Amino acid sequence: MMRTCRLLICITIAGYLSACTNSEQVADQRLADQSTMAVNWMQQSGEYPAIALQTFKFATYAYQQAVEKGARTPAVIVDLDETMIDNSAYQAWAAAQQVPFTDASWSQWTHAKQALAIPGAVEFARYIDSHGGTLFYVSNRAEQDRLATVENLKALGFPRVSGQTLLLNTSSSNKQARFDEIRAQGFQVVVYVGDNLNDFGQATWHKDNIQRRAFVMQNREKFGTEFFLLPNPSYGDWESGLSQGYSAMTPTQKLHVREQALRVWKPSH
Ligand SMILES: [Mg+2]
Repeated sequence: MMRTCRLLICITIAGYLSACTNSEQVADQRLADQSTMAVNWMQQSGEYPAIALQTFKFATYAYQQAVEKGARTPAVIVDLDETMIDNSAYQAWAAAQQVPFTDASWSQWTHAKQALAIPGAVEFARYIDSHGGTLFYVSNRAEQDRLATVENLKALGFPRVSGQTLLLNTSSSNKQARFDEIRAQGFQVVVYVGDNLNDFGQATWHKDNIQRRAFVMQNREKFGTEFFLLPNPSYGDWESGLSQGYSAMTPTQKLHVREQALRVWKPSH
C-alpha cells in the first residue's frame, strides 16, 4: 500500500514537472514568434532602409560640421550589430524555429559571416575614413568571434578594420571604458551611431525604460547632432528595460511582463 502511494506521488510530481516544462516551452515559442513582425519590417519594408539612409546622411553632416568647427583628430564611434551590419536573418531563423537567442547559436551565426551591410553604412564609414576621421567599431560581440567579424566586415567593404579600431567585449557590455580609452588616445569623438542607448555611454546601462526615456529627454539636443540612432524593434536593452530582473525571468513571466507593459485603449462601451 505504502509503495503504491509513493509511486502515485512520484507519477503526480513527474506529471506536474512535465506540464511545467511544456508550458515554458510554449511560452518560449510565443516569445520567439512575437519577433516575426519586427523582422518582417526590417527585412521587407522600404521604411527601414529609408530611415537608415536618413540617419547616415545626417551623421555625415554632423561630422562635417564638427570638422568645420575645428575638431582635432576627430573620431566617430559606431556599434556593429543592427547599426552597421544586419543580422536579421539570424532573428528570422530564431522566429521561424521558435527558439530563444543563445550564445551558441549566435556564435554559429557570426562564424557563418552572412551579416549584410545596413543601407548607407559602408558609404558613411568610407566617407569618415577618407575625410580625416578615424572610425572605431565598438561592439559587444565576443573576442572568440573576432576573426569571423573582421572577415565579414572586410567582405562588405568596411574600411580599416583592425585590432586598433575594432573594440569588442572583453570584460563588460558597458562600453564606457572603451569610449574612454579612445579619448585617452587623443581622439575627439564627434559622432556616435548605434541602435541602443548604451551605444552612447554608460548612463543607460542596466537601467529601466523610465530612466532610459528620461536620458533621451535630458539629452535631446545631442540626438541628431552627436548621437544617431537606428531603429531595432527585434531586440535590445529596451527589452530587459521592461522590468527589473527581466533577463532572469522564465519565458511565462517574460510574456506576462510584455503584456502588462502595453498601454491599452479602453473603449467606453
Ligand atoms: Mg547593436
